[in-house]
Amino acid sequence: MGSVLSSRDHSESIKRMVARDLQLPYGSLYITGRAAMASVLESMMHLRGHDDPRNEIIIPAYTCYSVASSAINAGFNIRLCDIDPVTLSYDLDCLHRLDTDRVLAMVSANLYGFPNDLPALEQFASEHGIHLIDDAAQALYARINGRGVGSYGRAGILSFDKGKNVTSLQGGMVVTEDESLYRYLENQQDSLSDLNLTGKLKELFKVLVYYAFLHPVMYQIPANISFSGLGETIYEEEVAVLRYPPMLSSLVKDQLNRGRDIAANRTAIGQYYDRSFDGIGGITRIIPVSGAEPVYLRYPLLVDDKQTRLRLLDQKRALGISASYPKALSQLTEIRHKLVGQPDCPGAEWVAQQIVTLPTHAYVRQQDMSEIVDSVSNLGRAGVNG
Ligand SMILES: *Cc1c(COP(=O)(O)O)cnc(C)c1O
Repeated sequence: MGSVLSSRDHSESIKRMVARDLQLPYGSLYITGRAAMASVLESMMHLRGHDDPRNEIIIPAYTCYSVASSAINAGFNIRLCDIDPVTLSYDLDCLHRLDTDRVLAMVSANLYGFPNDLPALEQFASEHGIHLIDDAAQALYARINGRGVGSYGRAGILSFDKGKNVTSLQGGMVVTEDESLYRYLENQQDSLSDLNLTGKLKELFKVLVYYAFLHPVMYQIPANISFSGLGETIYEEEVAVLRYPPMLSSLVKDQLNRGRDIAANRTAIGQYYDRSFDGIGGITRIIPVSGAEPVYLRYPLLVDDKQTRLRLLDQKRALGISASYPKALSQLTEIRHKLVGQPDCPGAEWVAQQIVTLPTHAYVRQQDMSEIVDSVSNLGRAGVNG
């Protein structure tokens, strides 16, 4: 346990390792990915020109709910853009139709480790004078056109929460090459609070339990308990912006050392599913956008029939088969008062209703993979027989 919970602060090593990997010079650590997102958005509000009234952010209509809470906490109104169910990336026609007069920022999603069409988003953002934030919470080590996800746009966001590629149960990071943005964030860090003693003790306890007693199933836990591993499936308005606890830093450092292997292992499992489902009826695979190298944090697929999907989720939860965010952001009543424009998002709403995700973590055994593939492949037949 000594090495797991060393009292040394490895924050600077974490920043160096991520910086090297994404080829960006600066990083700031936070208690969560949503705290990192809220901070970078708040800084953009603060650093815009004195007479610049822009206060809107474009968010893809299917992503982690906490992206919306971070934006609202930073004072933004939200303009939703539909997604393309084929790739899960932005629907570019929808994007080009949006009224961008008051848009200051936009975020990518890169869900399940599938890169969005980041070169197209970056071009759109620069043409319209919008700050792109590349949300790599689920896509650390994914690449598109050879460039790491998280390194597109003005700043990237990483999460070290449960169920992400690199985890210390919680944690988040902003990465950027923009020195003025970085300086602003680091100045703000000085006024942030640390996790209080009760919070620290809770963290310590969780880490001890996970690592000392449950290590082999650590990844199974978030996968099996609903979907807690990839951000909340309930909307929470509150975003606490606190410093990253140094006590957790050795966990992240250790995994960053093995990060490429962790990602390669998930990718191999994802590609196994993908090959196995080639030509199988009743389901639709997600197609990566051109130039993308996904890391398959989970393996997403769309089940064509609603009832069949519910039966699969109901009966095969033990294999780690689970749903994802149950609603598109356009259906989330809690954020309705902050939405602007006419959010018409049939693609995102379709995905929310049809998506199933399969586990790719290190403790999925070959036997589990075969059972999962069988369960999904037999869906069509089960549907016909009742
Ligand atoms: C997990 C996640 C976040 C937020 O990260 P937390 O560390 O859970 O706050 C943001 N965006 C996406 C896409 C995520 O999956």
